[in-house]
Amino acid sequence: MYLQERVVENRLIGYPDQGIYKLVLYGQVAKSAKPGQFVHIQVSDTYDPLLRRPLSIAGIDQDREEVTIYYRVAGKGTDLLTRISVNEQVSALGPLGTGFTIPHTGELLLIAGGIGVFPLYSLIQVLSTAKVSVKLLWGGENQEFLESADFNYLKYLGVDYEVSTLDGSLGYQGLVTDLLEKELKTSKTPTGKEIKSARLLRAAACGPRGMLKAVTAICLKNDIPVEVSLEERMACGIGACLGCVCTVRGKDGNLKRKRVCKEGPVFDGEEVAWDAEV
Ligand SMILES: Cc1cc2nc3c(=O)[nH]c(=O)nc-3n(C[C@H](O)[C@H](O)[C@H](O)COP(=O)(O)OP(=O)(O)OC[C@H]3O[C@@H](n4cnc5c(N)ncnc54)[C@H](O)[C@@H]3O)c2cc1C
Repeated sequence: MYLQERVVENRLIGYPDQGIYKLVLYGQVAKSAKPGQFVHIQVSDTYDPLLRRPLSIAGIDQDREEVTIYYRVAGKGTDLLTRISVNEQVSALGPLGTGFTIPHTGELLLIAGGIGVFPLYSLIQVLSTAKVSVKLLWGGENQEFLESADFNYLKYLGVDYEVSTLDGSLGYQGLVTDLLEKELKTSKTPTGKEIKSARLLRAAACGPRGMLKAVTAICLKNDIPVEVSLEERMACGIGACLGCVCTVRGKDGNLKRKRVCKEGPVFDGEEVAWDAEV
């Protein structure tokens, strides 16, 4: 659905070098948005760039009719987005895609790499009222990055978390997959319940493809079902152009193509053919 949303907030947060912005949109998207879905935003009034830019829904406030998005300036499109002022209208297509499964009981372990934390914020927010124990493992380059990606918001959400940085400036020094291995080695489940309830454990992850592949392997080795949110460059965003396909293995063992914008961006990690040509 093409919608005109009003910009409530669009500002740099954190360290300027990190180039991370918080964008809040008022309008129709919030009414039906779900964690893991995204909006496809028109960033220019001209044909340059022609294509919209996909950004994850990181916060949903149905009462205020607002969605929150965090974006990192990556190139021309996101740079143009920074110039849109409060009270201007933006054309947003969405909410689009298939989001995360929302569990109603048990424990959910979330694993984020870099800006992959953004779609997980909305999942944490939605689960804060459910009977689900949530723990987030989040890896980033350094403390400046984590703080700029709204680390404080996690404290506000009151979620249990552990972070890792490559340079050790905050949390564990190393990769988030090390944190995951450590977490699953302990005799208790991540949120502290006895191991007997571990069968209720699920995982969801978002981050770079290599990290998601490794996270899937670790989770499956531990019999933990895992959902992953994939990122592909995309054009139409509604499943028509087939520009964002990924390769999955069907139940019959044959390789198939699925559209990241339509059947995804969230997929069962086990179904993704990680090593197939895409
Ligand atoms: C479903 C989905 C959700 C996303 N959610 C967010 C989000 O919440 N916050 C956020 O900051 N970014 C998010 N992204 C990535 C974001 O869409 C891209 O960074 C943006 O489109 C880049 O546009 P640009 O014109 O600024 O850069 P471009 O000039 O188009 O590209 C700059 C650089 O970024 C790379 N790039 C562009 N698009 C992608 C992509 N889709 N995947 C991987 N690399 C890409 C290019 O290869 C190039 O190296 C998401 C992408 C997808 C597919």
